[in-house]
Amino acid sequence: MSQSTTKPGDMTITAPVQVHQEDKPLIYVNGRIVPRSQATVSVYDHGLLYGDGVFEGIRVYNGRIFKAQQHLDRIWASAEAIGLKIHISPKEMLDLQRKCIEANEIVNGYIRMIVTRGEGTLGLNPNLCPVPGIICIADQIRLYPQELYENGMKVVVAERPRIPVECLDPRIKSLNYLNNILAKTEALDKGLFEVIMLNTEGYVCEGSGDNIFLVKDGVVITPPTDASILEGITRRFVMELCAKMGITVREELFRIETLLDADEVFLTGSAAEIIAATEVEERASKGGATTRISEGEGPVTNKLRQAFTDVVTSADVPED
Ligand code: PMP
Repeated sequence: MSQSTTKPGDMTITAPVQVHQEDKPLIYVNGRIVPRSQATVSVYDHGLLYGDGVFEGIRVYNGRIFKAQQHLDRIWASAEAIGLKIHISPKEMLDLQRKCIEANEIVNGYIRMIVTRGEGTLGLNPNLCPVPGIICIADQIRLYPQELYENGMKVVVAERPRIPVECLDPRIKSLNYLNNILAKTEALDKGLFEVIMLNTEGYVCEGSGDNIFLVKDGVVITPPTDASILEGITRRFVMELCAKMGITVREELFRIETLLDADEVFLTGSAAEIIAATEVEERASKGGATTRISEGEGPVTNKLRQAFTDVVTSADVPED
């Protein structure tokens, strides 16, 4: 992050704003664990030049890597989908994650695992990037202010649709997140934190960084995995919790009208965890009306969030 000392467009050098100490966290980059200030990659890395690479966002609870195996499986699946061969084993990647947690004494936190295409030429050709780049950052994350977890938040439907499966399947967790960032900007510009993205056929798919669920008459519904969504690991866990708790859960396509008619809406993600969306603003192109879904967090969302919290604060947080 930098703070401009001049007007946009001037050539004056900008002064960095320190959001972290320079030496923390200790970060794994391409074979070494180094202080943050030395954690650098080549400007020829195609991860930087083209968003060519894959990543995972993973929670650490009670010193354990939550759903570690599922994150390993997903990053390997994402890499395979873009023809990127990860040159270390899943066990080695997990060891890296553990080393980074230890080095930074993290008990509850967040891991960002990144595999880039690696250093290449200025052209697009990925075959000219012989060695993938591997980065592991163990740090903290808070996606939304705490009070929104208690009271729920307002979200807006994005004008920008989610990228269609046939262009760049959102099931691939690639470093190319501009579709999500530009959608999220639609919320930020309104002073909100999150958007609901529709796919190009007008069905609800997900948030910019989380999956979406609705609750209607006690039944929990979420879009299916081929609806232009990331197949979220928290999404899967919440579906399992529903099954365990005797709550009917279904994967079903639905449009915005169905969402607005729901009793409850909530979002899930590794970073987001579980958070209620209590108000939804329609797209400006559709009139921009705001619908209240629920007064605060609804009872089903609350039960699921409680069950989720029970698991992640327990001594044996599941790593598989
Ligand atoms: N959708 C998108 C676009 C995301 O970036 C994320 C966060 N990784 C999610 C959904 C939630 O996935 P998960 O529960 O695996 O974190």
